[in-house]
Amino acid sequence: MTGSTLTHLECGACDKRHDADQLHNLSSCCAKPLLARYDLAAAQSIKGDLNNRRPDLWRYEEVLPIRDEQFAIKLGEGWTPLLTVPKLAQDLGLSRLSIKDESFNPTGSFKARGLGVCVSRAWELGVKALALPSAGNAAGAASAYGAAAGLPVHVCMPADTSMPFRVECEQLGADVDLIDGLITDCGKKIKAGCEAHGWFDLSTLKEPYRLEGKKTLGYELAEQTDWQLPDVIIYPTGGGTGLVGMWKAFDEMEEMGWIGSKRPRLVSVQAAGCAPIVRAFKEGKDSATMWEGAETVALGLRVPAAVGDFLILRAVRETEGCAIAVSEEALISHARRMGSMTGIFPCPEGAACLAAAAQLREEKWLAQDDHVVVFNTGTALKYASIWQ
Ligand SMILES: *Cc1c(COP(=O)(O)O)cnc(C)c1O
Repeated sequence: MTGSTLTHLECGACDKRHDADQLHNLSSCCAKPLLARYDLAAAQSIKGDLNNRRPDLWRYEEVLPIRDEQFAIKLGEGWTPLLTVPKLAQDLGLSRLSIKDESFNPTGSFKARGLGVCVSRAWELGVKALALPSAGNAAGAASAYGAAAGLPVHVCMPADTSMPFRVECEQLGADVDLIDGLITDCGKKIKAGCEAHGWFDLSTLKEPYRLEGKKTLGYELAEQTDWQLPDVIIYPTGGGTGLVGMWKAFDEMEEMGWIGSKRPRLVSVQAAGCAPIVRAFKEGKDSATMWEGAETVALGLRVPAAVGDFLILRAVRETEGCAIAVSEEALISHARRMGSMTGIFPCPEGAACLAAAAQLREEKWLAQDDHVVVFNTGTALKYASIWQ
């Protein structure tokens, strides 16, 4: 057995309790995301032992949902470096800038965190086939963990997704469906497949455990800053699991007494061609409306509607963060800016975060002495053709 202290699931909208050892998609009460809850009083004491633990996200197994060790699929996910980048910091007029480089993860993106944990848990709960819609990286990660578990994986991606994303899934043994449409259209196709064939739907926030994998970003940032946490976290937002996950992690760590009540200001970055969360934030809304005609080379940001929109907006507002959109020109030019000054060639989503940091610094929303963490969420290489 692992040390998991998972106790139950809670509806993200009404707090109703649900059994964590049954399979769930959205909550049966409100059709909203379910959040995993733990016996944090029991998990609290592991802080002192973390130095002795594996350099991957399973170091936090007490606050992860897998109960039986044999189902925890380990491909090296998590515990990515938090890199200090002094030249780039100076160029932006910041005294402390760090990049959390998620390109080190299996399949080259931080999707490995969410999919690693949720595929493990689905396998543990007896699921026989997995399915998900994806803009690219989630499909690769699902294919990898499904292959490791020996479960069939059905993915659906927009047909215009860059070739390496598709090839990766195929070589990992997944069944790949390409359609003429966006991730929301892929979602509908996958939903129909799940209903027809009994596949389990791993869509973002439509089951409780991708979020649990993603929340380890927050645990790592706390540990890597010696429990101080940065002042600001700049995060490229599609479905928002990472942002919501970190916010959840900070609450859990405060409850365990690992950190205080101070929170990093969470910044949600989107592309100007698809910015539903930014629009809702600016309009003071609690949820977002569908973005029509979504278009951006940052595939992970080409998400016109997010099930967790209300949670993203809450996380941003409660931490006194903000939501900001960047143009295609800015994100492309900031990939080179990051690359040439740090040696890190970021994915366009990571580059979008740097573009946002530059803009927020210019507007003085970022102070010179703020410790700012920018996420590079994946490798640049799968995007192949956009860099020419
Ligand atoms: C999926 C993805 C994102 C967006 O992440 P969410 O947690 O869905 O908001 C950002 N960058 C990359 C590289 C991605 O694959």
